[in-house]
Amino acid sequence: MECPECGGEFEEKQIVHSECHEMNFYVFKNTPAWVCSQCCAEYLQPEVTKKIDYLINNHIKPEKYEKIPVYSL
Ligand SMILES: [Zn+2]
Repeated sequence: MECPECGGEFEEKQIVHSECHEMNFYVFKNTPAWVCSQCCAEYLQPEVTKKIDYLINNHIKPEKYEKIPVYSL
């Protein structure tokens, strides 16, 4: 698999993925993803995206809550 951005090689890694949904911020640890070794572009597999949507849409109880800093510019 080649990176469409730069033609670099993808490596399978576990990343911290974040998502914003209806003004809520979600963090997903240990997310399997393809990461480009050159430009660091990240791609999630469709089944991973599906799982994330499932967790958000069904309000599954998270492992824990974190406080996040919010700024206004
Ligand atoms: Zn790339």
